[in-house]
Amino acid sequence: MDGRVEELQEKLRSHLNEAAENQKLEGLKAEGPHYSQIEDSAHATEKELSRMIQQSGAREVALDSAPQAGCPTCGDVREVCHPRWSINSIDGPVETLKPKAHCPCCRPCSTTAG
Ligand SMILES: [Zn+2]
Repeated sequence: MDGRVEELQEKLRSHLNEAAENQKLEGLKAEGPHYSQIEDSAHATEKELSRMIQQSGAREVALDSAPQAGCPTCGDVREVCHPRWSINSIDGPVETLKPKAHCPCCRPCSTTAG
């Protein structure tokens, strides 16, 4: 597993370097960009990367959940479903999945709130 993590970290570093180079090229195209424009662009990229990592991590946790679980309201054992879930993170909206085991009587699976 360590090898896989290192491989992914190296891939991420490579993509971040590529993104940084692209940012530099974009900055050079503009005539005399103010430093704040470069900084804003870097922060926008940082937030986008953060949302991508959050989306991927939350999705992985959701899909790694047990296939069955007790309904949080009545306790009946149900198949776990994974409705889409919108999160307002500090870096902006993140669309991902959330494991839910509410039975249809207590709360339909398509309900994404909570
Ligand atoms: Zn229930």
